[in-house]
Amino acid sequence: MSETVFILSGSNMGDRERNLALALEKMQLIEGLEIVATSAIYVSEAQDMVGENPSFMNQVIMADYRYSANELLNGLELIEKKLGRTGKGEKLPRSMDLDILLFGQQIIETQRLSVPHRELLNRPFAMTPMLQIDPKVIHPVTKRPVADFLSDDDRSKVMLYKDHVARQP
Ligand code: ADP
Ligand code: MG
Repeated sequence: MSETVFILSGSNMGDRERNLALALEKMQLIEGLEIVATSAIYVSEAQDMVGENPSFMNQVIMADYRYSANELLNGLELIEKKLGRTGKGEKLPRSMDLDILLFGQQIIETQRLSVPHRELLNRPFAMTPMLQIDPKVIHPVTKRPVADFLSDDDRSKVMLYKDHVARQP
């Protein structure tokens, strides 16, 4: 039995695009993880962070995973470390952040893990790439489509990376 999982990859330090690419490359090597789809890369201003923070690049990865959410987090944290991530829970700039957004329709509450991710429905930068992959995805706690929680105002806060680059001087 495997679960369909959604992982959010984010970077706001160093070469952000390269960090996302490297994280994806390394995720392909996680045992038991079969990547099914990857979203575009989106750019948004830092939210829920401490002090001045550079903007983020984010991408969502949809995959089938054979083991537990805890084991998946182990693999993701190893990748964060390899990509130079230091500190956890500090809300400071980070080279790589890998969060589990959904683990099938499972609801998990342990000291280490909250799944669905506690902030998913408050974070346009997580919902937007996720909905690009699966516009009908259901949030297992509210049992409503994730899309119901993304307002037009939210949508305007998250830019496709290519559009974003095109607007640079
Ligand atoms: P954030 O991603 O909120 O900025 P961190 O990456 O610093 O925070 O992680 C803080 C803690 O969040 C981690 O130690 C991890 O155990 C915990 N955590 C809880 N739920 C999740 C989840 N769904 N995905 C990833 N980490 C999670
Ligand atoms: Mg994290």
